[in-house]
Amino acid sequence: MRIVPKAAAMQKLARHWKRAGVKIGLVPTMGYLHAGHLSLVREARQRVGKTGKVVVSIYVNPTQFAPTEDLANYPRDLERDLKMCHAEGADVVFMPGDAEMYPGKAEGKYSTYVVEENLGRGMEGAARPVHFRGVTTVVAKLFNLVLPDVSVFGQKDFQQAAIIRRMVGDLNFPVQIIVAPTRREADGLAMSSRNKYLDAEQRAQAVILFHALQAAKKAAAKKTVRAARLKKDLQEFITAAPLARLDYVEFFDPETLQPVAQVKRGTHMALAVFFSKTRLIDNAQI
Ligand code: AMP
Repeated sequence: MRIVPKAAAMQKLARHWKRAGVKIGLVPTMGYLHAGHLSLVREARQRVGKTGKVVVSIYVNPTQFAPTEDLANYPRDLERDLKMCHAEGADVVFMPGDAEMYPGKAEGKYSTYVVEENLGRGMEGAARPVHFRGVTTVVAKLFNLVLPDVSVFGQKDFQQAAIIRRMVGDLNFPVQIIVAPTRREADGLAMSSRNKYLDAEQRAQAVILFHALQAAKKAAAKKTVRAARLKKDLQEFITAAPLARLDYVEFFDPETLQPVAQVKRGTHMALAVFFSKTRLIDNAQI
């Protein structure tokens, strides 16, 4: 497994592979890897085959964090991440620093961003105004540096995956986007690097996100339910976890991400919940 810290070296390697007709799979991450990330690496390997190359990028992208968010103390454990990537059979870990990804930014000499203007408005985009601009920009840059044939994202970040797909279509990136299912802990909590922030009591209550998804599924299993009604019920439901503070719960069309008034089979649900400063998200199809 090769560790590549430089952007130019990554692009050179990718161009070399391309000339040799080697398929490239990319899994973008912010590190502090867990089994969810590894399932994406496995998916990438399946897509490119034994002769293909799987690149895992590890980069905590500053442009997708607002100044008030957790950039400075985002969990990191590079040594462990590298071991996990190696064990999973990744070919390359691309781990650039800020000076590689945003050259000249500190001196005001970086000024190009990629902005998706529709799907990113609600939910995470409304709660975190600069977030998706940072995500689309860094993913576009990663695509230009790694030149992947296929890139794998997690359904855990449903809105993000939809935005990336839209960006790839709109801007004609020659890359296939795969969205892999959410991996969960035994009790149902979606795996997330941010789960590390939770203390024991918060961790025990964090399963409320998963339970809320289950409750909504049950409520809308056999009949159409008003979204406003269900939102109110879920707000109440979440008070069963006294340390949880609901940020939003939304019911929406999985294609357009537009909120719906009626919840039925096929409607998508997403929610964000704070435990103190830790913000967790989850989503599922009803
Ligand atoms: P992150 O490191 O949080 O930026 O996530 C990197 C990629 O892993 C994104 O495509 C996420 O959607 C995906 N991911 C995060 N958590 C999970 C999970 N529990 N199951 C599957 N994929 C995940």
